[in-house]
Amino acid sequence: MAGKGDIRERIEALRERIRYHGRRYYIEDAPEISDSEYDALYKELESLEADHPELVTPDSPTRKVGGEPLEGFEEVRHAVPMLSLSNARKSSDLREWDTRVRRRLGPEEEERLRYVTELKIDGLAISLRYENGRFVRGATRGNGTTGEDVTENLRTIRSIPEKLDGDPPEVLEPRGEVYIGLEEFEKLNQRQEAEGKPTYANPRNLAAGSIRQLDPKNTASRPLTVFLYGVGEGYGEYESHSASLAALKSHGLRVNPYQVHDSIGSVVEECERWAEKRTSVGYQIDGVVVKVDSRRQQEMLGSVQKAPRWAIAYKFEPLAGRTRLKDIFVHVGRTGALTPQAALEPVNIGGVTISRATLHNEDYIKEKGILIGDAVMVERAGDVIPQVVRAVSEERTGDEYAFEMPTKCPVCGEPVSRPEGEAVTRCVNIRCPAQALEHIIHWASKSAMDVDGFGEKISTRFFELGLIKDVADIYGLEAEQLIPLEGFGEKSAQNLIRSIERSKEQPLPRVLYALGIRHVGAVTAELIAEHFGGEDLLRGVESEKLTEIDGIGGVVARAVAEYFSLEDNQNLVERLMEIGLDFERVSAGPAEGPLAGKRVVVTGTLSRPRSYFVERIEDAGGTFTSSVSSNTDYVLAGEVAGSKLDRAREAGVAVLNEAGFEELLSQEPRSSATST
Ligand code: NAD
Repeated sequence: MAGKGDIRERIEALRERIRYHGRRYYIEDAPEISDSEYDALYKELESLEADHPELVTPDSPTRKVGGEPLEGFEEVRHAVPMLSLSNARKSSDLREWDTRVRRRLGPEEEERLRYVTELKIDGLAISLRYENGRFVRGATRGNGTTGEDVTENLRTIRSIPEKLDGDPPEVLEPRGEVYIGLEEFEKLNQRQEAEGKPTYANPRNLAAGSIRQLDPKNTASRPLTVFLYGVGEGYGEYESHSASLAALKSHGLRVNPYQVHDSIGSVVEECERWAEKRTSVGYQIDGVVVKVDSRRQQEMLGSVQKAPRWAIAYKFEPLAGRTRLKDIFVHVGRTGALTPQAALEPVNIGGVTISRATLHNEDYIKEKGILIGDAVMVERAGDVIPQVVRAVSEERTGDEYAFEMPTKCPVCGEPVSRPEGEAVTRCVNIRCPAQALEHIIHWASKSAMDVDGFGEKISTRFFELGLIKDVADIYGLEAEQLIPLEGFGEKSAQNLIRSIERSKEQPLPRVLYALGIRHVGAVTAELIAEHFGGEDLLRGVESEKLTEIDGIGGVVARAVAEYFSLEDNQNLVERLMEIGLDFERVSAGPAEGPLAGKRVVVTGTLSRPRSYFVERIEDAGGTFTSSVSSNTDYVLAGEVAGSKLDRAREAGVAVLNEAGFEELLSQEPRSSATST
């Protein structure tokens, strides 16, 4: 039997581990272990403390709700504490809870006992304070008594109204869960991966991380939504939980669907039904919450430590299983990310046969010490994506061996790269077949080359038909090739070819952005285009030179330099230049001057060298560009001006001769802020 000292040590060790993982989960939104692993540690601590009450200390994690508020946010004290919930794993736990509830309420109340069931959403608990129907403050749960003020972040969520409908109480504090749907979660993770950022472990962490952002702009960019399931302040207005939910609904709030039951038998059935079809809802749920409906009865029951006695969470079993890791292969995504995938001996988890699972990245495998040949635990995280959560290392035979990330892309054979500080290894060869389609879609998109009518569907179709293999091929398409295709007629084919042609006029920042160089967004592309033209970049600009540009850091600079150092990328850029795309440097002029904010094209033979006019344009605050588009403000045309002049006339752009140009420059200076 273990001595007291051993037990004390074990309890302390468990507390330390639980605190550490609690911090990773509640505060940093980046858990390292799965919920079921965490729950197992927590349960062990709970039962040791139950057996040895003399060893319980007030600072034990079993006595505390959530995590401490994050620095950087104002603190909010909750007038009514935001508690956690006690758990039931089996239907017998629910029945025992029902017995306890009845016993406490006494025979007189038993008859009036009703329960409400709601899905337990796996998101971030929040409180919304409305005063006279106006949203005035939003907060996280934090440690239950003090949360973080995240008002401005919550204001960015469309399903949280600024003003309530009807006639709400003077102070009403609806509470609920902010979450992200499974589909949105996957899309966002794909984007994270494309940008070389770590992916989120599950929708809960993404939702929590999105709310706890210091800049509301970041929150606004995330597809968050909310379900309300209770009331803090103002609850006294209602006689039951279900009445409060109905009221929230009538005030225009998004309320978590609920069911009222008059027996525990019906509650158990409901819980079991949901355990079966848990994957049928479009968001992550981890159980069913059961609540006593009557407010008076809730008050009679009260709370223990960190959870009310009148509610319990029926938690679903984790969707987990044990199997063998046969091999690890590497999948190259459409963004070039190399993801190690586990080839598993098939195992049935929650009714689905799993033979593949993600291993995230190289570091994950190393940190978890997973070897090929190991017995492993697999979980369906977020109920959808299976992942290997750990190796059962005690069962090793000695035949297991470590995985090594390939140094060459398994699809195109080009060397792969893993920039310092990044978790993802990727293939940077833009012509790698695994990436080509993704690049075509990006290239034609609105924010890049804006090829009208050339969306994802068309890109995929043409790519699959073999009409285009890379973005340069888009410019070789001819109407005759398209007319016979289903859905195309002469007119639509001509229109598409015309919009492809028009896209050739996009200025260099657009082209650079469209090239899809990692870390080069629209703003970075502008910065680069102000300092380097296509020729400079092709000659090879050192990353040190790029970092001299204000606003460009080492990571971006290295990505740009690396992109232009690859032969395939150089060939692509050369082909695009030959096609006539705009690779001319864009000069940034001062923000003030008679040409502030104006784009000017120079063409034809002039009385002085072109560089003279470029300098004059820049000195006058204008931007010199090499090709005419609908964004062009003026064309300065000398003699024998050719196609650019024609295009200017077509596009209705003002054409100046040298005299007109001089006159324009002698006008009163204007500032770019007032220019149109
Ligand atoms: P909980 O999640 O078990 O229950 C309380 C919470 O449920 C409430 O605060 C509320 O946010 C939420 N909830 C969702 N739907 C609800 C509804 N309809 N009605 C009422 N509440 C609803 O308790 P907890 O204390 O927030 O956290 C424990 C959970 O966090 C466990 O599942 C645990 O596995 C996980 N966790 C994981 C790690 C890790 O490292 N993986 C670390 C810490 C905690």
